[in-house]
Amino acid sequence: MQFYLATSFIFPRSLRLRLFTLCFVATHMPLLGYLVWGLSTGRIALAEFILLTLATVVGTAIALFGIGALLNPIHALADALHEAKEEGVALPEVGDVIQTLYAGVQRVASATRDRMEDLHQAAHEDPLTGIANRRGFLAELDALPPERRRGCIAIIDIDYFKRVNDLKGHEEGDRVLAAFATRLSALMRRVDLVARWGGEEFAIFFQDCIEDEASWSLARIASRMRSHPIGDVHGRPISFSAGICRWHGGDLEETFARADEALYDAKQSGRDRICRAAPLFQEV
Ligand code: GH3
Ligand code: MG
Ligand code: MG
Repeated sequence: MQFYLATSFIFPRSLRLRLFTLCFVATHMPLLGYLVWGLSTGRIALAEFILLTLATVVGTAIALFGIGALLNPIHALADALHEAKEEGVALPEVGDVIQTLYAGVQRVASATRDRMEDLHQAAHEDPLTGIANRRGFLAELDALPPERRRGCIAIIDIDYFKRVNDLKGHEEGDRVLAAFATRLSALMRRVDLVARWGGEEFAIFFQDCIEDEASWSLARIASRMRSHPIGDVHGRPISFSAGICRWHGGDLEETFARADEALYDAKQSGRDRICRAAPLFQEV
């Protein structure tokens, strides 16, 4: 493209004439060289000169015919673009054929890039709540630098959520899920990660926190759920249960399994509470 733009001062509106000029100059170089050499040494021979001139003319004709044939598809495309433009299709205001095609290719590349970003976002975001989904959460954890891969993982589950759906309808259930996601995101620090783990379960990564800090943070949210309920079932504010597990940057699957066990304990012991995973032998 740089050479193309640099040579655009020769016939700026016609690619064919520009190519003709370049081709003409290039194919006449041997003849010109022979003429300069012959005239300066006085050793020019008429027969050789005529032969070289004929070869140059034939070479130029072949080169021009070949380039013209190769350009035909580009011109056909340019004509189609021109027609589209006349029919009111929005196209960039650019100089000639190559620039139009170049701008078109760039537009397609940019649209493809945007589409890829949209697809990436859709794959990592939960459409109902607007927060990360499980895949997005794991991808974000995976992308953390080694020194930030430590803290606590919490699995949170809304209590008796099925009753919200059963008593108030699925739409109210969806609204509660979205409101809960907003509540969690609003009360977390910017460095923490919040995600919808699936159904009415959520996950939080408390960066660089010990269990006490994660537990206080969740207790603060629980208290807010009572003072400012996001919804109620039989007049009781909607609550949640949570399981917390320390993460030292190692096996995530095991950490989630332990947080899940702690969540199970919280449910078993009456719900609306936060339980910690039993410490591993080396953590005691
Ligand atoms: P527990 O206290 O034991 O957690 O009881 P629960 O009722 O919250 O749990 P259960 O697993 O019995 O029910 C969860 C319900 O969440 C069942 C399912 O229909 C509902 N659910 C899952 N995803 C969605 C969703 O996207 N929207 C709505 N409205 N409901 C959902
Ligand atoms: Mg559940
Ligand atoms: Mg539940």
